[in-house]
Amino acid sequence: MSDIIQLLPDHVANQIAAGEVVQRPASVVKELLENAIDAKATHIKLIIKEAGKTLIQVIDNGSGMSVTDARLSFERHATSKIKAAEDIFQLDTKGFRGEALASIAAIAHVELKTKQEEDEVGTEINIEGSEVISQEVCVTPKGTSISVKNLFYNIPARRNFLKSNAVELRHIIDEFHRVTMAHHSIKFDMYHNGSEVFNLPITNCRQRIVNIFGGKTNEKLVPVEEETDLVTISGFIGKPEYAKRTRGEQFFFVNNRFIKSPYLNHAVNAAFEGLLKDKAHPSYFVYLTVDPKSIDINIHPTKTEIKFEDEHALYAMLRASIKHSLGQFNVAPVLDFNRDASMDTPYEYKSKTAQTPTIEVDRNFNPFKDEKVSGGGSFSGKSHTSFKKESAGDWENLYVGLESEMTTFKPTENDFSSVEFESAEVTGSLFETDEKKVGHHTTYQLRKKYIVTTIKSGMVIVNQNRAHQRILYEELLRNITMASAVSQQLLFPLVLSFTKKEIELLTTVKEQLENTGFVFGELSPGEVEIMGIPSVTSEKEVAQLLEQLINDLESEVPDSGFSQTDLLARSISKSIAVRAGVELASEQQQYMVNSLFACTEPTITPNNKPTFITLTVDEIDKKF
Ligand code: ADP
Ligand code: MG
Repeated sequence: MSDIIQLLPDHVANQIAAGEVVQRPASVVKELLENAIDAKATHIKLIIKEAGKTLIQVIDNGSGMSVTDARLSFERHATSKIKAAEDIFQLDTKGFRGEALASIAAIAHVELKTKQEEDEVGTEINIEGSEVISQEVCVTPKGTSISVKNLFYNIPARRNFLKSNAVELRHIIDEFHRVTMAHHSIKFDMYHNGSEVFNLPITNCRQRIVNIFGGKTNEKLVPVEEETDLVTISGFIGKPEYAKRTRGEQFFFVNNRFIKSPYLNHAVNAAFEGLLKDKAHPSYFVYLTVDPKSIDINIHPTKTEIKFEDEHALYAMLRASIKHSLGQFNVAPVLDFNRDASMDTPYEYKSKTAQTPTIEVDRNFNPFKDEKVSGGGSFSGKSHTSFKKESAGDWENLYVGLESEMTTFKPTENDFSSVEFESAEVTGSLFETDEKKVGHHTTYQLRKKYIVTTIKSGMVIVNQNRAHQRILYEELLRNITMASAVSQQLLFPLVLSFTKKEIELLTTVKEQLENTGFVFGELSPGEVEIMGIPSVTSEKEVAQLLEQLINDLESEVPDSGFSQTDLLARSISKSIAVRAGVELASEQQQYMVNSLFACTEPTITPNNKPTFITLTVDEIDKKF
């Protein structure tokens, strides 16, 4: 038998390679955008017609190519990015296989225009199905423009295999998202059928994400930050309450390249464990930076899967840093944009796995209810009466769920200055108490202003007003975000007068107010009818509370939904927190102290003022 093996002609080899590289218009988009990024462009324009089926054009202001390079770029294995096989382990470029342009040119009509800064004129090349139709000099700005027309024109089977325009466009947009999210310092525009779809200016990482996914995203993001020898982790996770039923916004980037990693995805889910509703998927935008030598990106033709050298360590670090962020997300939610370092958590977490405090307090229990029965008015009223012994039963309700939950609340040594949580049992163990007298900790009210109590290492002096602000703030935030507040129905609707402008302001936060427990009737031009109020407040306080809120809304002008929520919670907690000058019964003092230390961030008020100070025995000793 004669020899039967033949070398495939180039254009056939290219077509076969194209099958690997180009599955659909979105693959072309990805390759062209990546080439533009590798060419150090600072502005990249993507122009699409009919979901890429008739035109995909990418215009960049990058380095451009010389005449020879322009021609060579369409050859298979022609790349400027690696010279030897070892270079693959040092990559800081997107491409390196030198296959994309050759593959694309094999299955479409391609027009390339390119010019380098230093050249007078540029080069224009037209290729159809791997065949160079023309190459000439042209006038074109610095950079490169590649138009890919009639994709798969010579492979009808593949062309027919393409999905509807809506589906293909979705794939293109997904690809566009991934690339643009990984490069916030490049300006990107995208047009489809002549209209602008995206216009993404150069910005920071967070703002880029917000520009892509819409203004509402900002309030959902919690920053993640971790730096170790092995990896630098940065980016954002979505707050658990915004988790979706569909796996939408889940992104990993490794050295600014989007990747898929079921293993790391598992690490994120593990960090969210217990915080998500059934079948909900958290959003995440996680950027990992590792030594290029420690990864192998060469295992997949479209390069979305990579292998890490130390996968297990990476898993553990990712999980720990996300847990940490989740644990502190109540700390300074609106300050994320321009984080003020002084506001960062005082905890020393770096080398530790953070635990997420999950503390459930019986919301229906109102320790100050007694007052309403006896004297009307609320906590801030002067006429409050002391707790009677019989109230002890109610008092214990406060701890519903707390005993068991408390075990998950394990702050590190440096937490709360020197407060020692030696035992992880009931909060009672926090305080120096006699076993038999659990629930009757010694507290003392100083000048109707401070609550003094002892801890194992010394004493704590709590500012009653500030502590109450923190307690109410966290409760309000929880209620607003989870819409779980308890409302007191008013017997007779309360009608308050406001100006039109004030009512407009209130309307902007109506939904959040309703989540705190407000029930509004009619909002007419001059009046607001209120049918129900939050259980933490009283009818007498409502007018002042709303006035204060309008004031705060006017002076702060919150931009996002979340800062609105935060402002609302801050404003209301400030309005209704018990003031200095109010005498507190001993149970009330203890409630205050215990609730404060059950908070996510007990050390400061929502306005960043300290809530308590400690004096250790050592410090006291020194004074003698
Ligand atoms: P790879 O990106 O893997 O090197 P490609 O086929 O995508 O392979 O591109 C081949 C070469 O063409 C690149 O290495 C680069 O030198 C050049 N090139 C492609 N696109 C551009 C561009 N937009 N600007 C400048 N050079 C480009
Ligand atoms: Mg490339």
